[in-house]
Amino acid sequence: MSRLLDIKNLAVNYGAVNALKQVSLHVDTNEIVTIIGGNGAGKSTMMRALSGIEKSTGSIAFGGQDLTAVSAHKRVGLGIAHVPEGRQVFPDQTVFDNLMLGAFLRKESPAELAPEIDSCFAMFPRLKERRDQYAGTLSGGEQQMLAICRALMSKPRILMLDEPSLGLAPLIVAEIFKIIKSLKERGMTILLVEQMANQALAISDRAYVLEVGSIVMEGTGQELLASERVREAYLGKH
Ligand code: ATP
Repeated sequence: MSRLLDIKNLAVNYGAVNALKQVSLHVDTNEIVTIIGGNGAGKSTMMRALSGIEKSTGSIAFGGQDLTAVSAHKRVGLGIAHVPEGRQVFPDQTVFDNLMLGAFLRKESPAELAPEIDSCFAMFPRLKERRDQYAGTLSGGEQQMLAICRALMSKPRILMLDEPSLGLAPLIVAEIFKIIKSLKERGMTILLVEQMANQALAISDRAYVLEVGSIVMEGTGQELLASERVREAYLGKH
């Protein structure tokens, strides 16, 4: 396995608030790595720093390339796809148009992209049925699927998902995690941020615990699932 993402001493300050403090972590090709942490731990801040929409210090290497001076726009082109918290699909565009917008940086014509849209629809039949429906009328789970699909249309090398389970019913959450696992089986590399750690850890190769801006634990998904500290703080078990 090769190192795809290598973060060293990443820090983000909002005025006097140190939202991220010298965070170092890595993601290898084809891994699922999860960052777990409670409200305000800095998870979303970290994702925003990685996609380049938040200013940070420290170093981020992606595929061996230093990203420090690379704009958010160019990072998408390099293969970093970010599905933000709350999904943020374009509500007044159809499912199909949302998917096409995901490919906005690519050079292929709509006709050349059609097979990829088809393979997205094969993975998410519920989206296929709703191809011409406005995204704003989809259920929360369907919007999350669309946000994931749209990110895949940029042909990423890493898919970063910020709390994909947020606000979804348990059955839908289970479906989303199944999809994430199947993306790994198809070769994708995934960096996941989650507050509800149970199912995320179950599908993760490795995980880190982020507390008030610092990594306080790391291990395999199974190790963290078994950890008393993690169980008490993040799994609702005592
Ligand atoms: P949640 O799951 O609640 O979104 P999180 O782990 O994603 O939490 P962040 O949103 O990254 O946490 O926030 C980390 C800290 O930085 C919090 O204390 C938050 O209040 C602060 N913060 C985030 N964005 C800003 C901002 N734009 N300006 C000032 N402070 C911010």
